[in-house]
Amino acid sequence: MSAHTHYTGLINRYRDRLPVSDNTRIISLNEGNTPLIKLNNIPRMIGKDVEIYVKFEGLNPTGSFKDRGMTMAITKAVEAGSQAVICASTGNTSASAAAYAVRAGIKAFVLIPEGKIALGKLAQTLMYDATIIQISGNFDKGMALVKEVADHAPVTIVNSINPFRLEGQKTAAFEIIDDLGDAPDYHCLPVGNAGNISAYWKGYKEYSTDSETHKAVTKKRPIMCGYQAAGAAPFLAGKPIEHPETIATAIRIGNPQSWDYAWAAQKESGGWFDKFTDDEILAAQKLLAQYEGIFCEPASAISIAGALHNIGTGEIPEGSRIVCTLTGNGLKDPDTAIKQCAAAHPVTIDAELNAVKKAILDNM
Ligand SMILES: *Cc1c(COP(=O)(O)O)cnc(C)c1O
Repeated sequence: MSAHTHYTGLINRYRDRLPVSDNTRIISLNEGNTPLIKLNNIPRMIGKDVEIYVKFEGLNPTGSFKDRGMTMAITKAVEAGSQAVICASTGNTSASAAAYAVRAGIKAFVLIPEGKIALGKLAQTLMYDATIIQISGNFDKGMALVKEVADHAPVTIVNSINPFRLEGQKTAAFEIIDDLGDAPDYHCLPVGNAGNISAYWKGYKEYSTDSETHKAVTKKRPIMCGYQAAGAAPFLAGKPIEHPETIATAIRIGNPQSWDYAWAAQKESGGWFDKFTDDEILAAQKLLAQYEGIFCEPASAISIAGALHNIGTGEIPEGSRIVCTLTGNGLKDPDTAIKQCAAAHPVTIDAELNAVKKAILDNM
């Protein structure tokens, strides 16, 4: 009678398309299976005939899409006998690595840029009890150090240069096609280290290609639109940049490690890169919260800023179906949110009926 459908994570759901065997011990926190939410109010507000869906990756176990890659990376590290993992991180990778390392019973070392990590991400990483190595340098410097130290210490790198990360992350594209019944016309997402755009493109290609083991699920692939912060836009500059700067700390990266894969995604899909200012990013973050009830972190909001810009210019034409990835949860970065809403700080009133009644009627 009853159908038991306890979801147990993306590796189990997509195991026939992932590098695991029957004997692999799966390290999972039931990540993936995130909601694809259709925006109702914003398309109406902008007066355009478009379907916009957001893939809310902020609802993963540690609050970002990094968990998709981490379940695979830690599973494979444990399978290979590793006792410790290491990553450089702008925050979300460290939180995810720390959580999955705990789950596996191994150690996590995380290198973070001093003072440039959102409060929620730091809180998580501390709670999961990872060893935090704070450096007086940015993410790119941390990444270079991690690559070096991995040759000198018994640690497995779990940044997205670890190919198992992209394997896990490609499942987001599978979920979107499984939910919509087909690929969208456009896929919009933030680009920092460029692992995610590479992983999505890998997933879309795999679902649209006949192989020995699988028939194509669809022939269709989306056009990939990758967005960067104006102060951290190496793909727009055509080369790495030395001093990336943006309020969207998750994409404060000047030397993306998946450079070639991301260019391939852009070229093969017929897509493009674009850049947006911090003000545009924050405006999109507020818009999404205020009009749709969805609170994502600043870096994630650039996918909305970009999609709305490209819809406005006609680069994304009316009649299109668009998916925007919301990479992380707004609760990760409470400081930025509270600062942005400073003008709307709550006023304190007397704790009595008439004062509360007045506060309601004044604000109807
Ligand atoms: C990691 C991250 C990004 C950037 O993803 P890349 O794969 O590095 O391009 C964007 N947003 C959030 C919230 C992230 O955690």
